[in-house]
Amino acid sequence: MQTRYVFVTGGVVSGLGKGVVAASIGKIFQMRGLRVDVIKADPYLNVDPGTLNPVEHGEVFVCEDVWEFEPAPGYRFTIAEIDQDFGTYERFLDVNMHPSNNITSGQVYLSVILRERAGTYLGRTIQVIPHITDEIKRRIRSVAERSKPDVLIVEIGGTVGDIEAMPFLEAVRQFRLEQPPGTTALVHVTLVPFLSTLGQLKTKPTQHSVKELQSMGLQPDVIIGRSDRPLPEDVRRKISLYCNVPPEAVFSDPDLETVYELPLVLERQGLGTYLSKLLNLPLEPDPDRKAEWERTVDAFLNTREEVVIAMPGKYTMIQDSYISINEALNHAGASLGVRVRRVYIEAEDFEREPSRVEELLGQADGILLTPGFGARGVEGMIHAARYALQSGKPFLGICFGAQLLFVAFMRYVAGLEKAHSTEIDPETPHPVVDLLPEQRKAVLKGGTMRLGAHPVKIKAGTKLHAAYGSELVYERFRHRYHINPDYLKLAEEKGMIASSTDPSGRIINSIEVVGQSWIVGVQFHPEFKSRPGRPSPVYRAFLEAILRESRRNRS
Ligand code: GLN
Repeated sequence: MQTRYVFVTGGVVSGLGKGVVAASIGKIFQMRGLRVDVIKADPYLNVDPGTLNPVEHGEVFVCEDVWEFEPAPGYRFTIAEIDQDFGTYERFLDVNMHPSNNITSGQVYLSVILRERAGTYLGRTIQVIPHITDEIKRRIRSVAERSKPDVLIVEIGGTVGDIEAMPFLEAVRQFRLEQPPGTTALVHVTLVPFLSTLGQLKTKPTQHSVKELQSMGLQPDVIIGRSDRPLPEDVRRKISLYCNVPPEAVFSDPDLETVYELPLVLERQGLGTYLSKLLNLPLEPDPDRKAEWERTVDAFLNTREEVVIAMPGKYTMIQDSYISINEALNHAGASLGVRVRRVYIEAEDFEREPSRVEELLGQADGILLTPGFGARGVEGMIHAARYALQSGKPFLGICFGAQLLFVAFMRYVAGLEKAHSTEIDPETPHPVVDLLPEQRKAVLKGGTMRLGAHPVKIKAGTKLHAAYGSELVYERFRHRYHINPDYLKLAEEKGMIASSTDPSGRIINSIEVVGQSWIVGVQFHPEFKSRPGRPSPVYRAFLEAILRESRRNRS
């Protein structure tokens, strides 16, 4: 079947949940039995988001695969770190996304400029139109050729009107013109704010952002209005009138209890049928596929009890820094009938007021120590791990969180007072967490960590083994440092073991405290593979331990 393209743009403000809309549109087509893939274009000039602080653009997502990006002959860059929206796509669609599906301006310009040096465009002036736009179109087509989806969703990052996004929008205009009629659609997602002083939803910002699109030669086929409540009929009519789309092409994206409900909410409004008509695809969803997703969503809506998880971390100022962790907790919670409430704690607060550790963590049912980089807040995070070791409260450390659990254990249980990670203290006499040997030669910072999925060999009889029920799994990694195997013997003597390693036995992939308490640290990021309806075994085991513990405390 010829690939259909659905372009998704955003208007008025960023952070609208455009990624959730793009993923929901993908789900709507999957429910029609179609194969879906998703591209995200990110207008920033970074080659990939791997060097970004999560508080800039949210979490950095890690793919199963690693991509050797060759912008021009003789140049190679490793890419496995991509935009957080890919986590949303993977969770909704249960498809592993390829790193080349994330097209950044950085990659596009790099390719064109390095090819100019190689002589590809000999004699010509290199310009945004046509050279940059051609490269964008080539990248979109190369994804279609590789994965041959029935529907390829292309989300354009940023907001219409941003200077950086212009070449992408121009490429979309050209692309649509080059495709046969009836094979592309443009969906514009925009904010429809509710002004409480007036008690009214306002459509003016939407009108302006559609005008902006139109001035670039793009007429949306569908407008999706994001608001805190459903759009009433008169608001939809007004948007239709001013934005040059029929009233039945205006859809409502209200606040929901769980994001996974959005495909069903949009389907109910007729979005699936409307887009399918435009694209000549099956008008109705397959009832079995739809019912399956409804069951998945129901599990999120029908939770009986609540558990509270404290998350000390370094990037707690925005929720999106830990989005895959949040979702993995939600998936595990839904599968066990519990709602998970997260309490973010800026780890620096613990450094200022160590007495707060007990107070804040004491109230939580479990502690999740988050991933991160660099020295800020680290002593606070170590305090949190120490508290778990002393209280026996269920604890899950992810990557940096696992490394700092090991530091806390070596300091406060094994007695190596000055133990540290060389990432934080290069001069520590006890480098219990140290650079991976192969990392010593890495000079560049971008794309040089140990990335992507790697085999994890699990030891029988461990908590990790009980969680997975398997001795070999693949999980995704993103780290430069690791738990120093030279200290493993001492750790074991004191009650902490390595529960898994890489197949060579050289890299410790996880640690855990021996005995009753569920205190586990994993070097990998199990959250990246967690799916609604199929939670990560580690996260599920963590929540089960919490439930066991709280039931014991109650009885
Ligand atoms: N900073 C640590 C490392 O590089 C942990 C990384 C992480 O938490 N993803 O190994």
